[in-house]
Amino acid sequence: MNLLIMGPPGAGKGTQAVEVAKELKIPHISTGDMLREAVKQGTEMGKKAKEYMDKGQLVPDEVIIGVVRDRLGQPDCKAGFLLDGFPRTLPQAEALDETLKNVGIKIDAVININVPRERIVARITGRRVCRACGDTYHVVNKPPQESGKCDKCGGELYQRSDDTEETVNKRLDVYEAQTQPLLDYYGRQGLVKDINGDQEIGKVLQDILDTLKQIKG
Ligand code: ADP
Ligand code: AMP
Repeated sequence: MNLLIMGPPGAGKGTQAVEVAKELKIPHISTGDMLREAVKQGTEMGKKAKEYMDKGQLVPDEVIIGVVRDRLGQPDCKAGFLLDGFPRTLPQAEALDETLKNVGIKIDAVININVPRERIVARITGRRVCRACGDTYHVVNKPPQESGKCDKCGGELYQRSDDTEETVNKRLDVYEAQTQPLLDYYGRQGLVKDINGDQEIGKVLQDILDTLKQIKG
């Protein structure tokens, strides 16, 4: 299946995407993860992207569109893919449509995770990420077995530099202004599947998998 996962920052896209991708045996493509990797590697793109990311702004369309186009051209995407964090603007959605059209494939569904804005700040400021494998935790909602240490690989957990209270509000404003309108774009194509993200992590996953089963038939 060719899937998108959408929702505001902190909705639980990454948390769910990892499990859904594992279940469907398709690659999980997170543009946020790709950009953070570029920042870590200190590439030119990473240096440029970090300035936007730390301010809670989107990196320019022309930067991210090329990255995604290259990634979707990799052989593992022939089996399908789950795109997380892309598209975030109308030009990105149009570029994605064009890329997919050129290879004759279509998006099967857009999973839209809904979480009320007032819940998001606590989710984001409590988020901790493994420096080594990228696994995501929460200090209260999904704590690691040993404080500060990844359950999966033992790596060090850190707080993303853009996960501060003031940047969260900026990111939510950017989401509402630039990304939320895409739900109308995909809604007109009948692709949007709304999921209640304000539930326990396992229940959200079950709802997503049940919804996808109905699509696959
Ligand atoms: P996104 O990828 O949408 O920005 P994440 O998946 O990183 O969001 O989740 C944001 C934070 O909220 C993480 O710390 C995660 O552990 C936590 N979280 C995710 N889903 C839930 C949920 N259903 N209930 C409570 N906390 C959650
Ligand atoms: P995320 O990990 O999805 O929360 O993304 C973190 C940050 O990376 C965002 O706040 C943006 O600055 C940047 N980013 C990720 N994906 C995109 C995208 N598709 N378009 C523009 N910027 C992006």
